[in-house]
Amino acid sequence: HTRITVSTPEEMRQLGRDVAAVLRAGDLVLLSGELGAGKTTFTRGVGEGLGVRGAVTSPTFVIARVHPSLTGGPALVHVDAYRLGGGLDEMEDLDLDVSLTDSVVAVEWGEGRVEELSEDRLHVRIERAVGAEERFEDQRTVTLHGVGERWATADLAALA
Ligand code: ADP
Ligand code: MG
Repeated sequence: HTRITVSTPEEMRQLGRDVAAVLRAGDLVLLSGELGAGKTTFTRGVGEGLGVRGAVTSPTFVIARVHPSLTGGPALVHVDAYRLGGGLDEMEDLDLDVSLTDSVVAVEWGEGRVEELSEDRLHVRIERAVGAEERFEDQRTVTLHGVGERWATADLAALA
């Protein structure tokens, strides 16, 4: 597990850009952390790093949004699984106009909901310090944890 301390929203975005550099088509990224932790902020950075069309915003009112690549790379499929009552089945029923294997799929609230989508997945857990002093209010701890063969040799520690 790689743990990274992030102090500002801008640093969170930058971390997303850095992580995007190791992502490729077919990758599944599962984001966890309470409301306001920074899951969408991180994913915005991933979108910037991948060079996709459209700013990544909170997908709360749509379940999934597809951001096509501007550069011929993988699209970013950004999913909010919080409202995916049926979990994986519903995820597979989403009528997306891209194939998930041609995309990087980033799922907020995806842990325990859509994990079976792939044997390989990158878990991004974002935590804020509990009861932190005001000056640490923006501080977050991000834990990166790759599961499966895809991530066995990936050097996530280099992102810290
Ligand atoms: P989530 O998707 O987890 O609900 P968002 O990314 O939508 O969270 O919102 C995070 C909020 O917290 C934003 O308003 C952002 O400006 C603020 N924030 C403060 N510090 C940080 C930080 N270090 N990383 C990410 N967001 C932060
Ligand atoms: Mg969000």
